[in-house]
Amino acid sequence: MSDDFDSLMNDFDIPDEVMEKIQKNIEEIITNFPVPEDNKLDVIKKINFMYSHTRHLSLTDGLTGLYNRRHFDNTVEREFLRSKRYGGDLTIAIIDIDFFKKINDTYGHLCGDYVLKEVAYLIMDNFRKTDLVFRYGGEEFVALLTETTLESAKIPLERLRKTIEKYQFVYEGTQINVTISIGAALNTFETVNEFLSSADKALYAAKNSGRNKLII
Ligand code: GH3
Ligand code: MG
Ligand code: MG
Repeated sequence: MSDDFDSLMNDFDIPDEVMEKIQKNIEEIITNFPVPEDNKLDVIKKINFMYSHTRHLSLTDGLTGLYNRRHFDNTVEREFLRSKRYGGDLTIAIIDIDFFKKINDTYGHLCGDYVLKEVAYLIMDNFRKTDLVFRYGGEEFVALLTETTLESAKIPLERLRKTIEKYQFVYEGTQINVTISIGAALNTFETVNEFLSSADKALYAAKNSGRNKLII
């Protein structure tokens, strides 16, 4: 099978024995289920649709619609190895909303959710089509900028920081000030963990030097 198929299957963590059972069941359904000849195409279309829909749900986050943590874990490994093998520049940015707990505490969780959705949209809107954006955790996002040096990454990252700072967040008539801190790193490391932790350290430095900052 092709690399594409393997990487696609890697997005699901289904144990081998369960996978085998599923396959057997599908074969049984196809063999024994009486599908009228003139309906066969519709049935196949429907199965395809259900498959794509399930796949979409397994890769994305319900609140923001961004790719989820599970998909990030699979993707970062792949992009890391790709950039090592072919020598392309890969920059990672971890984006964290400042004092988000205070937003929840002051205005309530639903307002927090509203802020998360707006920030997710602004992040997605900010980057190129070839960049990948994920919801990494609660109020943390990650962007993987392929074929991008740190110097070129500064431009969209600084633009994003300013966009969020200036954006009018209004929830039930109340205006809320939101800022983000960003830590970024270029892939010059031996392992994915070192690569991630370098961006994490930069984020930590951004938090410690007053927040609403980009540190590289
Ligand atoms: P810092 O500036 O240091 O990043 O402070 P912070 O308050 O943003 O960071 P902290 O990690 O203390 O708080 C994160 C908060 O995010 C706590 C958690 O309840 C909230 N949170 C996580 N996921 C969700 C979510 O899906 N919806 C809402 N409304 N809140 C969430
Ligand atoms: Mg935070
Ligand atoms: Mg955080």
